[in-house]
Amino acid sequence: MHAYGTGVWPAIARIDMETQMLGLMQRRNLLISSVITHAARHHGATEIVSRRDDGRLDRTTYAALERRARRLTVVLRALGIRPGDRVGTLAMNSDRHLELYYAIPGIGAVCNTINPRLAPEDIAYIAGHAEDRIIFVDPGFLPIVAAIAPALREMLRAVVVLAPPDAMAATALPEGIALLCYETLMAGTAEEPDWPDFDENTAAGLCYTSGTTGRPKGVLYSHRSEVLHAMVENFADVFALRATDRMLPAVPMFHANAWGIPYSAPMAGTALILPGRQLDPASLLTLLNEERATASAGVPTVWLGVLNHLRAVGGGFQTLGRILSGGAAFPRALMADYAALGVHVHHAWGMTESSPLATWNAAKPATLAMDAQARLDQQATQGRTVFGCDVAALNDAGEEVPWDGKTQGNLMFRGHWVASAYFRQPETSVGDQGWFPTGDVGVLDPEGFVVLTDRTKDLIKSGGEWISSIALENIAIGHPGVAEAAAIAIPDPKWSERPLLIVVPREGCTVTPEEIRAFYQGKVPSWSMPDRVVIAESLPHGATGKILKTELRRIYAG
Ligand code: AMP
Repeated sequence: MHAYGTGVWPAIARIDMETQMLGLMQRRNLLISSVITHAARHHGATEIVSRRDDGRLDRTTYAALERRARRLTVVLRALGIRPGDRVGTLAMNSDRHLELYYAIPGIGAVCNTINPRLAPEDIAYIAGHAEDRIIFVDPGFLPIVAAIAPALREMLRAVVVLAPPDAMAATALPEGIALLCYETLMAGTAEEPDWPDFDENTAAGLCYTSGTTGRPKGVLYSHRSEVLHAMVENFADVFALRATDRMLPAVPMFHANAWGIPYSAPMAGTALILPGRQLDPASLLTLLNEERATASAGVPTVWLGVLNHLRAVGGGFQTLGRILSGGAAFPRALMADYAALGVHVHHAWGMTESSPLATWNAAKPATLAMDAQARLDQQATQGRTVFGCDVAALNDAGEEVPWDGKTQGNLMFRGHWVASAYFRQPETSVGDQGWFPTGDVGVLDPEGFVVLTDRTKDLIKSGGEWISSIALENIAIGHPGVAEAAAIAIPDPKWSERPLLIVVPREGCTVTPEEIRAFYQGKVPSWSMPDRVVIAESLPHGATGKILKTELRRIYAG
C-alpha cells in the first residue's frame, strides 16, 4: 500500500484569514467559454477543417464556430439541459463535436465524451453511470446507441444525430427517447446569447478510463483544470502551439479530451484539421500533406502505421514538423525514423486522470552537451514534469525513491489538473494535496526525466527480478524486420514468470524467432532475454489504440 501525502512537499502553511491582504487584481473565473471567445475575437478567420464520412472537407472559422456554439446553448436549454446535467457524445473529431465541447460546459453542464470503440456493455455502463440525459452521436455510431438505448430509458431523453437532415437514417428508439437531427435543431434558432459566468470549479467534462480490468471509472474535469491544462500545454517547453501552426489531432476527442488540444489550439489561435473517422495511415498522410499540417498528435500505433505506409508508397511529410505522442511508449527506433523524415517526436506521459499531461520530453541544459545517440536515448524517455503537475516515484512504504535512474517506484502525481477521486467513488479520494496513484512503475533520472518501466500489472517477475516489457519491446522494434512487438509474462514453474515476445514482421520481411533472440545478445542481461518468440500477423489493439496485453495473456498463457 502507498502512503499518500508523505512529507515530499512541505505542508502548506495556513494563512490567518484576518490578516490576509487580497490582491487588487480582477478575479475572473477560468471558464472554457473564455477560450473560444478569445479565438473568435483575435483569431476569428483561422480555419477549422473537418473531414466528413464521405471524404469531403468542410471549412469553418473560429468566429463562425463560436457563434454556432452560442446558438447550440439555446438548443441544449430547449432540450431541458440544466447546469450540472451530463450530456454524452459518441463522436469522432469534427467541428460539430468541437461546438459541443464549448456549448455543453459553456452553460454549466458536463460533456461526457464516450469512446465508441468500447464494447456496447461498457458504453451502456458509462452512459448509465453518468446519467446522460442526451447523447449526441455521429451517424455511423447511431446503431450502437440504438442497441443500448433500452438500458438507458430512465435518464435518456433524446439522441441527436450530428448531421444534416438528409443524412438522417430511420432508427427505432424506445418510447420516451426522441431521435433528433443536429442541423435541424440548429436551424430552428437564431439566438446567440452571451456566455454565462459561474464558478471556475464547476464540472465541465467527464471522461471514463478504458480500464482493462473492472468497470470504466469516471474522471470529472472542472473548467479551471481544463483551462490551466491547456495553458501549460502551450508553454514553450511543452507543445508550444502558435497562431501560425496547423494542428491535426489524430488522437480522438473521446481519449482524454484529445489530450487538451480542442482547448489549447484555439487558445493559441492554431488552425485545427479534424480527421473524422478516417484515421487509416493513407488518409492521415494525405490530410497531413494536403492541409499543410505543421503539428499532429496520436498514439504510437498511429505513427507506426503512417511510417509503414510511407515506406510502402514512398514520399514524405511536406509540412509536418513535430508530433506529440503518448498513451503508450514511443519506441526509440521509430523516433529515429521520424527524425530522418524531418519530424521531431515529443514523447509525453499522463493518463485520463491527469487531463492527461504530466510529463513532456524537452531538452534541459545538460542535453545540449550530449551526442546524438544520448540525445535520442533521452528523447525516448517519457519526459520531465511540467509545471502544475508534480510527479514522484514512491516505494511501497510511501517514501520517494532517489532520482538515480535506477531505483524503481510507483509513479504518483498531483496538481491542478489531477483527479482527486473518481466520479461517484468517494472511497477513491486522495484529497486536494494527496498523491494520485497512476498504476505505472518507473524511475526518475538525476535530471528528473521519467522512464516508465511498465504498468504494474504488465511487469514480468522472473526469479524475484523485475523485467520491463517496454524495454524488451523497444529492442525488438529496433530490429529492421520488425513492425510491432509486445512482451508479456507467461507462468513458469521455476522462475514464476518468464517473458514471451510476440513479433509482427514488417511488410515484405521474414524474421525467425532465433534471429530475434540473437538480436537481444549484449543488449539486456541474459536472464531478461525473452525465452520464446512468437511470430504473429497482427497484435490486438484496444479502444484507444494500445496493445491489449490482457488479450495476449489470454491467448498465450497456455
Ligand atoms: P489513458 O488514461 O487511456 O490515457 O491511459 C494512461 C496509461 O497509458 C498510463 O497510465 C500509462 O500506462 C500509459 N501511457 C501513457 N503515456 C505513456 C507513455 N508515454 N509511455 C508509456 N506508457 C504510457
